[in-house]
Amino acid sequence: MTTSSNDTIVALATVPGISAIAVIRLSGADAISITQKVFRGKNLNEQASHTIHFGRILSADEIIDEVLVSVFRAPSSFTRENSVEISCHGSPLVATKIIRALLSAGARLANPGEFTKRAFLNKRFDLTQAEAVADLIHAESDAAHHAAINQMRGGFKTELESLRQELIHFASLVELELDFGEEDVEFAKRDELRGMVLRIQAFITPLIDSFQAGNVIKNGIRTVIAGKPNAGKSTLLNALLNEERALVSDIPGTTRDVIEDVIHLDGLAIRFIDTAGLREAQDPIEAMGIDRTQQEMKKSSLIFYMIDLGNTSFTEMDAQESHLRDLGIPFILIGNKVDKCTPEIKLVAEQRGYVLISALQKTNLSVLKTKIVELFQIQSRHSGTIVTSLRHYECLTETNAALERVLSSLNTRTTGDFMAMDIRQALFYLGSITGEISTEDLLDSIFSRFCIGK
Ligand code: GDP
Repeated sequence: MTTSSNDTIVALATVPGISAIAVIRLSGADAISITQKVFRGKNLNEQASHTIHFGRILSADEIIDEVLVSVFRAPSSFTRENSVEISCHGSPLVATKIIRALLSAGARLANPGEFTKRAFLNKRFDLTQAEAVADLIHAESDAAHHAAINQMRGGFKTELESLRQELIHFASLVELELDFGEEDVEFAKRDELRGMVLRIQAFITPLIDSFQAGNVIKNGIRTVIAGKPNAGKSTLLNALLNEERALVSDIPGTTRDVIEDVIHLDGLAIRFIDTAGLREAQDPIEAMGIDRTQQEMKKSSLIFYMIDLGNTSFTEMDAQESHLRDLGIPFILIGNKVDKCTPEIKLVAEQRGYVLISALQKTNLSVLKTKIVELFQIQSRHSGTIVTSLRHYECLTETNAALERVLSSLNTRTTGDFMAMDIRQALFYLGSITGEISTEDLLDSIFSRFCIGK
């Protein structure tokens, strides 16, 4: 992504296609004067910030459209640069013609996320807040929406920044000691440094721990429905989704593809991955599907394990349960086909905590839903700040590891240079979260998640 803060960028800010109105956005030092070159109406160069003006957009004396132009003067705009928003009629042709006229007048097309990137570079907000804007756009559930809004409003950045400032202070004292070399001076009081490190750890550890919940909120609960062929997995998925999406068949193993579907429960998105049955297969095509089931199960946050109570034995139940426990992933055991099983097996399944259902008759499905909500309740009702971004999680984990090393240097009274290095590392990772420290690659990867015009 090439950017120069001197450029004036332009893009369509609304969805391309026919609509009532379309908005074209410009930002940059010359945004107002470039617009003026194609505008017939009042002289925009003389207009105050936050004013709207009616006029026409012309290209080589041809009237393209009648428009409303909103003028925002630096620094009172989203990007903190001079900005203009042109509201025109919502025709793709009109919008394209206006953008072309603006390009000829000196603007250039914006890259994805470039408006937000400029806002960040002009310190309109920090990186976590910019990322939250992207999360907000992509949020699919109420919980994800709340988490993004919380992060956009500042989340944990203020506290993080003040802790970072304190650590910078210590870092400079430790570095100063290094300048004195052999002389045995101690500017940075070790007890205070230890207290500070522990304080930062006490702040970031809950954030690190919140990531699992955060991930569930942002990406939903990846749920695999597993079980032997014919256990009733597709029937259950269909019942939950209330529509016949997956293939239901009497022939064992016909549901071969991984199908993903989402239901929303208590504000959380549950992503169902329906897979082929779990068993030793002879058929090579089916074997592929089964292998995929194992992979999907290992990647999931929750396993729905279905057993056909009409066609199972205690030994088989034992074997499947122990296999599930070995995976170490939360699971819910589902005893299906209660409508055609013996009372003995039903009783045993009940005692073992199975959720007893009939997928076909749609009985007891609400218990299943309650069970998921119970299992992930902490996540959906999580109060306080939650880390939802893998990038933040990784930076926090690295910070914590560097701080652990600082603590062990303090304990073993290692020389200051190792400690200084670890403090610098901790500062680097802390600063990377909010964007105090950033690289062009990092910014590109973050802002390319946005669409053009955002
Ligand atoms: P899958 O291979 O695990 O996906 O199993 P399916 O969903 O394709 O179901 C296999 C067969 O079991 C179908 O004929 C379903 O109608 C039947 N089935 C599913 N659930 C129930 C149930 O609760 N009771 C009964 N009696 N049959 C069921």
